[in-house]
Amino acid sequence: MQKQTVRDLEAAGKVVLVRCDFNVPLEAGSITDDRRITESLPTLRLLIEQGARVILASHLGRPKGVTPEFSLAPVAARLSELLGKNIPLAPDCVGDEVKAMVAAMGDGDVLLLENVRFHPEEEANDPAFAAQLASLADAYVNDAFGTAHRAHASTEGVAHHLPAYAGLLIEKEIEFLGRAVNNPKRPFVAILGGAKIKDKIPVITNLLTKVDKLIIGGGMAYTFLKAQGHEIGKSLLDESNLDFCKELLAQHGDKIALPIDVVIATELTETAATQSVPATHIPSDHMGADIGPDSVDAFTQIIMSAGTVIWNGPMGVFELAPFEAGTIGVAEALAASQAITIVGGGDSAAAVEQFGLADKMTHVSTGGGASLEFLEGKKLPGIEALLDA
Ligand code: ADP
Ligand code: MG
Repeated sequence: MQKQTVRDLEAAGKVVLVRCDFNVPLEAGSITDDRRITESLPTLRLLIEQGARVILASHLGRPKGVTPEFSLAPVAARLSELLGKNIPLAPDCVGDEVKAMVAAMGDGDVLLLENVRFHPEEEANDPAFAAQLASLADAYVNDAFGTAHRAHASTEGVAHHLPAYAGLLIEKEIEFLGRAVNNPKRPFVAILGGAKIKDKIPVITNLLTKVDKLIIGGGMAYTFLKAQGHEIGKSLLDESNLDFCKELLAQHGDKIALPIDVVIATELTETAATQSVPATHIPSDHMGADIGPDSVDAFTQIIMSAGTVIWNGPMGVFELAPFEAGTIGVAEALAASQAITIVGGGDSAAAVEQFGLADKMTHVSTGGGASLEFLEGKKLPGIEALLDA
């Protein structure tokens, strides 16, 4: 880690503003997965033990102005349970009332600020708003890895006004992702899937210079299959990247593993009739919605002989039972392998969690977009802004 961390901060008696990623999934006001909250606990406990006055900032969802559904109240309740102390929620994240609440804090107290995205200035990285946030505290810690690829007021702007440190979660994420990309135990295998082909094209380009093998599954695979000249029916296609995929196959074909067979259907439903066919023979009125069993076997072999595996993006429409087997198969191969296994990407992490295999992975990243941009080789503005080590 090239940056100073919260361990370098003498926090006793100081007001420390910690940017967390509490952007948790909610259903009817209840948190359905609290991993992002539990992952923030090491940093929070360290600061509490040192006797800092800890104020927490986060966004939740994409509210347009002040919207009660996007209140951080459920997070305050869950954090209170996890930390075993009452964590009050401020009515806002800036302003006089918040200042008064901060002034009333004692050493070791924790205060959660309300959703920073209730202010449009947050995403605009408005300097005056960043200064207002900073005026609450003596020091700043960024532990919101999931938002580190965004230059927003609470992730980047504020770091220009306060001594700024990395939290322990950001440190852990960068350690695992950084080592995998820059100094991997070989063979180094990357598995890419999911639906966001456009977003992942730059990742493919960067990873192809580093990996020994690139497995491509999920919705991404079909543009490559089409680039090889095969009929892909109604499968996902990114027409604009067809030529690019052709070029990649010509240059790096020996490194790229595509599905051998795929599970096809005419509709994406829980009751869809499916069949496995060779990836070269998708009927024109069908779509490929999962990788088939032979692909799972072939990908498993590659995974079992790997030293490091990075996985981003499910192998099929795993949310629907008829199309989940490929993603389960790859998750099980990662779980069984001796390799260092890293799962990034919101949906892939959710899939691994859903299958009960998360704790069999070396590291499950809390940052979908952030981990992708890291894998692209981009600098993350929320981390760049912190003090150099
Ligand atoms: P991640 O969040 O892990 O980065 P993405 O957001 O790129 O992954 O893609 C996840 C989505 O991709 C899932 O909702 C899944 O249903 C979809 N998907 C995977 N394979 C296919 C496919 N063959 N056709 C259509 N959608 C697919
Ligand atoms: Mg996703």
